[in-house]
Amino acid sequence: MTVKTDIDEKINLKALTKQELQQFSADLGLKSFRSDQLFQWLYQKGVHSFDEMTNLSKDLRARLGEVARVPTIEHVRQQESRDGTIKFLFKLQGKEEHKIESVLIPDFYPDGAANRLTVCVSSQVGCVFGCSFCATGKMGFFRSLTHGEIVDQVQYIDQLCEQKFGKGITNIVYMGMGEPLHNYKAIVNSASIITDELSIGLSPKRITVSTVGLTKQIRQLADERQPFNLAISLHAANDEKRDEIMPINSSMNLEKLKEAVQYYYEKLHRPITYEYLLFDEFNDSPEDARQLAEIVRWAPSKVNIIMYNDVAGVSLKGAREDRLDKFMQELIARDITATVRRSRGDDIDAGCGQLAIKEDQPRGK
Ligand code: SF4
Repeated sequence: MTVKTDIDEKINLKALTKQELQQFSADLGLKSFRSDQLFQWLYQKGVHSFDEMTNLSKDLRARLGEVARVPTIEHVRQQESRDGTIKFLFKLQGKEEHKIESVLIPDFYPDGAANRLTVCVSSQVGCVFGCSFCATGKMGFFRSLTHGEIVDQVQYIDQLCEQKFGKGITNIVYMGMGEPLHNYKAIVNSASIITDELSIGLSPKRITVSTVGLTKQIRQLADERQPFNLAISLHAANDEKRDEIMPINSSMNLEKLKEAVQYYYEKLHRPITYEYLLFDEFNDSPEDARQLAEIVRWAPSKVNIIMYNDVAGVSLKGAREDRLDKFMQELIARDITATVRRSRGDDIDAGCGQLAIKEDQPRGK
């Protein structure tokens, strides 16, 4: 890699992988430990400028400032739900409308101490896939995030957790705005940084990446033996209903998804999680549950049944409790591992399917 010196073409260090950062340091003639120091400043301490990198000499900091930059997402505001969920609004560098939301979902022990601290991160501003129940899908698509912008969300919230709860985050789910596998490289690079001991050092077992079912990328995850967990946003258990609410299904139907899921399991022997939003009188009948059970048996898997929060402009509504009970009975009768998830943060529009930037937001492509 050649180091550029044109001030308008300064290298974005947070768009480089660890290996690329090593190359960048070598191109500048720096000793190899300097790239580790840079990596730690960027991804462990989360500094916003070279001036804060105090174990680098003044001359080196000035030199770095001439050839590189360290853009950071900007915290705009946060809202706390009555159940403790916190939704964050961040602005990305560049256009004013490039904003994203992230969510912290804390679980507490009976004595009030923090247990699991799960962060739901966004991977894109808007989304191209246009699922009918999803607020993000209604925004249109603006752009994908860099891996640095994804790590920034985690880092900001991790530092807040340290201050607020006396411990850092424990889990990450890539289930915020955007389709994670449509931004494959940034997802894989960000997870690799987050699990690095010189960064947050989170175990890959505590990271889950979700997808609406991009079959090529599911196979790629398997081929590359990516170590994090895979969740599939299913939301309907037959092609007819899935076509109706998820346009992706017309090109990647359940048969193709089955082949990809089985390929993934054969390569990695890692169970898959299905996410299934339960909609009133749409996908919540006993017959739907029986069809879902068949899908869950494609490979060792479990399913999360998620109670849907209403989204403005969406005619689908959350299922009723009596229908949920019957649905669960069908799954249990078929020995399916299923958990009901009550979506959190619905009073601040932080629940599943609710993330979208509303204020003065133009529509994306
Ligand atoms: Fe995009 Fe996911 Fe929303 Fe579908 S559910 S529109 S893939 S963000």
